[in-house]
Amino acid sequence: MTESDIAAVRDVLKSDWLTQGPNIGTFEKKLAELTGAKYAVACSSGTAALHLAMLAMDLGHGDEIVTSPVTFLASANCARYVGAEVRFADINAATGLISIKALEKVLRSDKKKKIKVIVPVHLGGQPAALGEIQGLAEAHGALVVDDACHALGARYRYRGREYRIGASPHAVITAFSFHPVKHVAMGEGGALTTNSHEIAEKLRHFRSHGIQKDAFINDGMAFSPENTLNPWYYEMQELGYNYRLTDIQAALGVSQLKRLNYSLKKRHDLAEKYHRLLRERFPDGGVRPLEAAPGVYNAFHLFIVLIDFIKFGLNRAEVMNRLRSAGIGTQVHYIPVYLQPYYRRRYGYNPGAFPEADSYYEKALSLPMYPQLTFKDCQRVIDTLKKILENSH
Ligand SMILES: *Cc1c(COP(=O)(O)O)cnc(C)c1O
Repeated sequence: MTESDIAAVRDVLKSDWLTQGPNIGTFEKKLAELTGAKYAVACSSGTAALHLAMLAMDLGHGDEIVTSPVTFLASANCARYVGAEVRFADINAATGLISIKALEKVLRSDKKKKIKVIVPVHLGGQPAALGEIQGLAEAHGALVVDDACHALGARYRYRGREYRIGASPHAVITAFSFHPVKHVAMGEGGALTTNSHEIAEKLRHFRSHGIQKDAFINDGMAFSPENTLNPWYYEMQELGYNYRLTDIQAALGVSQLKRLNYSLKKRHDLAEKYHRLLRERFPDGGVRPLEAAPGVYNAFHLFIVLIDFIKFGLNRAEVMNRLRSAGIGTQVHYIPVYLQPYYRRRYGYNPGAFPEADSYYEKALSLPMYPQLTFKDCQRVIDTLKKILENSH
């Protein structure tokens, strides 16, 4: 948090608004500009964003979604919130992203066309193959809602053109999170972008109790006998939620969005440094970064490496603990969602159901990645990792 972040919050605390104030609109406008989307709708978290997206898609009982097994829980849970079922399509272990072949197979098996929405996840900030995914979705009569909670600022190429995550014609709605671990940290916070006015309006209604302040159904209650609008009147036409963002959070977001480009540039420089160090220190590929698709601009929310722990004769917990003792924090993104007791119980999954996800999970480790990191830090991370891995025998 910079001094200007703190000042932005202090200004809100001294203003007339704590929630639904002017910073919400400013934040939405800035986010729309940054992504290139026509509309941005702020909400209380990335999870709320995904839930709102499912509501706006009119998803419910009898419907299904497909997502990646390697993601945060919310990419799958959002379907369950509206009574829909979750299917997973395996990933490609080298990239961590949903496999087009696996997705095709899942769609082909859906003879009754229950799958209505595909939720690709841009793991670590690397865009999934949205162009191809949209092609498959369209042929199946499904829609794409991308989980871009890692991917603010990411771009990808498809058939010779570049697209920005959040304004892609290959997704109907894009979901973002502004949880403290994400690029923009508001405490809690989320947003959706879309190019559809109708969908943006639906998202706004569901965000705030389904309340409508124009286009009424009960006209007799809305208007006085003189045909003027009754000043107290509001109308609930759908079952919505309180998924509003506060003005305090939005002010923090507006302030931080100003640094987004700087932060993306730093993350790219750091990733390049990591790549070089890994090639030098592990020329045999014992520790290697995730593979990148050509033409992709990764937002590098995370820097994930795949480590052949078996070959090094060490388990991941030991390596993480030793790194921690050296003052280096690492994390695992993610435990495959299908292995969570809730999903195993509901769908009867056993380990091995998604072999690429399992193989990725065995090897994945997220190294430190944030704009304040220095090249020297990267070097210390890789050197310490090398020492730990190679002194194990
Ligand atoms: C963080 C995250 C979410 C959920 O966002 P919250 O703001 O924590 O609710 C969903 N999907 C992915 C991939 C995430 O990383």
